[in-house]
Amino acid sequence: MAKDYYEILGVSKNATQDEIKKAYRKLARKWHPDINPGNKEAEEKFKEISRAYEVLVDEEKRKLYDEFGEEGLQAGFDAEKAREYKKWQEYQRTAGTGWRQAGGESFGRYHTYEDIFGDIFGFADTGGDFREFRSGHKVKGRDIEHDMTIDMISALKGVETELTMQKAKVCTLCKGSGTDPNGKLTVCRSCGGSGRVNVGEGPIQFTKPCPVCQGHGQIGKTCPMCGGSGQTLGTERIRVTIPPGVKEGSKVRVAGKGEPGFNGGPPGDLYLKIHVQPHPLLKREGDDLHMEVPVTVKEAIAGGTITIPTIDGPVRLKIPPKSQNGRILRLKRKGAPNPKTKKRGDLLAKLVVKVPEADNKEVIDAAEKLDAYYKGDVRQGLRL
Ligand SMILES: [Zn+2]
Ligand SMILES: [Zn+2]
Repeated sequence: MAKDYYEILGVSKNATQDEIKKAYRKLARKWHPDINPGNKEAEEKFKEISRAYEVLVDEEKRKLYDEFGEEGLQAGFDAEKAREYKKWQEYQRTAGTGWRQAGGESFGRYHTYEDIFGDIFGFADTGGDFREFRSGHKVKGRDIEHDMTIDMISALKGVETELTMQKAKVCTLCKGSGTDPNGKLTVCRSCGGSGRVNVGEGPIQFTKPCPVCQGHGQIGKTCPMCGGSGQTLGTERIRVTIPPGVKEGSKVRVAGKGEPGFNGGPPGDLYLKIHVQPHPLLKREGDDLHMEVPVTVKEAIAGGTITIPTIDGPVRLKIPPKSQNGRILRLKRKGAPNPKTKKRGDLLAKLVVKVPEADNKEVIDAAEKLDAYYKGDVRQGLRL
């Protein structure tokens, strides 16, 4: 078994940072491989010193080491759970009246032994975090939500596109295990390598997989590429199909394109939250589309057939005679497709009568002639 880090550096358990640094420098000078070329023992010694220093000089690591020993420094080690587990073991030992009573005692945020073990052994559903990965169970990867902005025509007609996304991927070095494939395995101190620990005393005894090594009996070195999480960041090109008729704020699911799963679990899904850019001519209300259609004075008075653009291409629109400015003509099922019901809304064309942009004599004469045909004062209804 490895020597105590404090012993290695020759300092006391409550040594200050300065004392630790000083001790390290002194030992490093003595055992440095450059000073002892070809000396295997010195090399080992130097490694040992460096490791001890690296831990003790780091407040966080030192705390974990003081409380849990070297196991506390393993990748993904969960101090809180280990603490609860120890407490529970301690309670079992001192109470000695079997595991049933354990349920009555409160262990921090855990209330029963099922809570503790459910959690430690990954039975509890905590949403796919790294603790579950350590439990050895297949866990589905997390879902990702991403914002995506598209123009209104693409939103109405649907579109296929490709996204480049930065997201978590399975670590290429450790293939998601979080353990350095080139590192040495060490025997788990908690279970002595058996991979099982006893739980329960008294009438009923049983064993569970060791929570420290997850039943493997051995503990590996942390993967240097992913830091033990089993995942690294990478970019991925993803083909997505936006169905026709998506609305502002709606979510499009891209199956299997979320974060990778743990321990061979399936990946999560990608959800694209759609933002639709406003269109200068089209406005959407529910599944209806609104559009202003300019017409001439003659078209408004005499009626006629004009051509207007729609999302299905050009469409002929009949203008009834004597159409006032602002009249709304409804084109059935030329509006937005509803992605759920697959039904189409309507297109509401609002006529906007345009006068000629000219004020020469001929135009004014023609307008004057028109004026004779108004039935009374056009503003006769205009009263407050
Ligand atoms: Zn890795
Ligand atoms: Zn173990």
